[in-house]
Amino acid sequence: MEEAAIRTRIRTMLETRTLPCDEPRATWAGNGGGHRCAACTETIAPTEIEFEVDLASGLTLRLHRRCHDIWRQECAPAPSP
Ligand SMILES: [Zn+2]
Repeated sequence: MEEAAIRTRIRTMLETRTLPCDEPRATWAGNGGGHRCAACTETIAPTEIEFEVDLASGLTLRLHRRCHDIWRQECAPAPSP
């Protein structure tokens, strides 16, 4: 999936609260375990890096590295002028 498409998708998911913006309590990176990415919903292959994120709410998200980066970017507060 194109990065722009993932970004659009993540923005929509954040707006509809399908994807939370909670502060990660812990983040692990490793090889994909065949889980579905919480952002792009594609399977994270063993040849790809999987980010496992424990949220303060107790929820665990699994994302591609790229999807994780975009998710954190979109969750970050807008820089003050
Ligand atoms: Zn993904």
